[in-house]
Amino acid sequence: MTKKSKKEKKVELDKLNESLSFRTKRRVVLEFPPNVVQTPITYMLAKEYDIISNILRAEIAPEESGKLVLEMDGLSDRLDEAIEKIRGYGIEVTEIARKVAFDMDKCMHCGACISVCLAGALKLDENYHLQFIEPKCTVCEMCVPTCPVDAVTIDI
Ligand code: SF4
Ligand code: SF4
Repeated sequence: MTKKSKKEKKVELDKLNESLSFRTKRRVVLEFPPNVVQTPITYMLAKEYDIISNILRAEIAPEESGKLVLEMDGLSDRLDEAIEKIRGYGIEVTEIARKVAFDMDKCMHCGACISVCLAGALKLDENYHLQFIEPKCTVCEMCVPTCPVDAVTIDI
C-alpha cells in the first residue's frame, strides 16, 4: 500500500474539518466610517467566504458614515474569519445575540426537530421528553419549521 504524503494528509484533514463544520446564521450590525462606506462587503463575503448575506436594514450614504444590519449564513469558522476581515477595514461589528426558545407548554415531544439538528443540541431523555442542550446549539434555525405546533421560536 502506498504511503500518503504530508500534503495529501493535510487535504484530507481539511476536508474532514470542513464536513464537521455546520452552516449557521449570525446577525451583525456594521458601522462604517465614511472612508470605507463604499466597500463591497456582501460581494466579498460571498466570493471569499461562501457567505450568503441578507441585508435587514441599511442606512448608507456616500461620503457619510453608514450602518448595515446583516444576516450572514455560512460555515461557523468562515463566519469568524469574515468578521475579522470586516473589522480589518475599520468597520465596527456588533453581533446581535440570537437564541432558540422552546415553548414546553406547546411541545408534544414528537422528536421531529431532533432529526434535523446536526449539532446534537436536541434529544429525548429517558422519559421521552425533549431535552435542549443549549451550549451545543448553533442557532441554525433548522428545527423551527419542522415543529408541527410552532413550539420553537428564535429570540433576538
Ligand atoms: S436546536 Fe435548532 S437551532 Fe439549535 S442547532 Fe439544533 S436545529 Fe439548529
Ligand atoms: S418538533 Fe416541536 S413538538 Fe416535536 S419535539 Fe420538537 S419542539 Fe416538541
